[in-house]
Amino acid sequence: MVMKDDILDKSPTEIMDILKQLGEPSFRVKQLLGWVYKGKRSFDEMTNLPKTTRIRLKERYMIGNVKQIKKITSDKGDTIKYLCLLHDGNIIECVVMRYDYGNTLCLSTQVGCRMGCSFCESTRQGLIRNLKVGEMVAQVLMVNADLGETGERNIRNIVLMGSGEPLDNFDNVVKFLGLIHDPNTLNISYRNITLSTCGLVSKIRELANMDIPITLAISLHAPNDALRRRIMPVASAYSVREIVEAAKYYFNRTGRRVSFEYSLIDGINDGVEQAEELGRLLADFPCHVNIIPINSIEGAPYRRSSAARIQLFEKTLRSTGIQVTRRRELGHDIGGACGQLKRGYLNNSEG
Ligand code: SF4
Repeated sequence: MVMKDDILDKSPTEIMDILKQLGEPSFRVKQLLGWVYKGKRSFDEMTNLPKTTRIRLKERYMIGNVKQIKKITSDKGDTIKYLCLLHDGNIIECVVMRYDYGNTLCLSTQVGCRMGCSFCESTRQGLIRNLKVGEMVAQVLMVNADLGETGERNIRNIVLMGSGEPLDNFDNVVKFLGLIHDPNTLNISYRNITLSTCGLVSKIRELANMDIPITLAISLHAPNDALRRRIMPVASAYSVREIVEAAKYYFNRTGRRVSFEYSLIDGINDGVEQAEELGRLLADFPCHVNIIPINSIEGAPYRRSSAARIQLFEKTLRSTGIQVTRRRELGHDIGGACGQLKRGYLNNSEG
């Protein structure tokens, strides 16, 4: 069976072309997008479009191709994880974090990942494939629909921090960002979007040149190349100096402050010495470091740092003049680390 094209893959300009080919005037774009981004999954419901247009759209297109197969809410109710089935049988996950200032969705950009970070579940089977634009959009629409109609947008903030390296799926991710920012779709401000990367220097520079002022979060996890190479293979391709230079370039081009993610791993990168070295590396750069005590991962050699070590690291780094926050830890009880929920699900279904 030939698979239909997904309308969620299309930009407003592409939809305008589609409608033009059907002989429809340009104002129909707004009408169509209005329905689609309100979560309608069937062209039949788009009652302000002529019936013949609806039929012809239905012949060629579908609306979204991602199915929720499991949902787990944390005990406190502040985190909801979703497992989603893709058309080819692959499974991805996305997570909603509920903050006082609104809901944030952490979504996936690839099935698997080829970056090989040693503390990460998502990379264990390497990269399976890139997600299409529509598969990223569908995660947002699925969660919005699940959170219910509240009269306002449910998801206000997006973080590209689920499985996958977003800059390794560059073209689709850039198109996705433009699409959800469009006032006729979800109208999500670039300021409310964060892209997390393990530090693909050339892509950071390319993104900086594109006039998309989102927040960049760089997973650094070590203050020097030798240590970084032990935990992140990508460190062999780019040095920490090159990454910091690219971050400065991004800041200068976009005016957006860059944050560095630093996962604390017991006895590996969580010492006073590393905190001081990190302070020296980032001195005089108006950035911000987000420290994240890792969750212990079953079968992985890394353990969570003790509370005392976490505190000392934070205090030492702060004393060097760097702005530090500790990421609020959500959803410990539901498999907080990237990929854990999916793995639990697959283990259960296999068992
Ligand atoms: S941490 Fe991110 S970049 Fe690294 S392997 Fe996992 S998904 Fe890929």
